[in-house]
Amino acid sequence: MSTIQSIAVTYTDGRVKTLDKDLSPIASFSRAIKGIKEGAKVNGLRPEILIAWDIAYNVYIKYGVDCILTEGTGGTHGIGSLHYVGLAIDLRTRDFKAGIAEEVKVELKSLLSSQYDVILESDHFHVEYQPK
Ligand SMILES: [Zn+2]
Repeated sequence: MSTIQSIAVTYTDGRVKTLDKDLSPIASFSRAIKGIKEGAKVNGLRPEILIAWDIAYNVYIKYGVDCILTEGTGGTHGIGSLHYVGLAIDLRTRDFKAGIAEEVKVELKSLLSSQYDVILESDHFHVEYQPK
């Protein structure tokens, strides 16, 4: 005889949560990976921004979306960009369903404190450490 050990619930925004047979959560939201886009430069990224990437990853996990760093200290940015000094990263947003990235931005801002700026660009979050 088989018994139900767990139930996977899929939310309308794509998140998946696993519940045990008593409907208690046995894991957080669905798994996601943290990765670096081929060609993105990470040399010289400072701890302040690595903390932000880690916090962002935890938010991405909730949505079951991979947290891919698409640029760190490389690429071409505006004059004075914090990318050049290792205090800004870009994180892929294309894997969020329509409208969800705005929600994620609000959550990121609340978790990262006012020491960070989070800007939603066309295909990524620009996150930078810039204490006021
Ligand atoms: Zn950027």
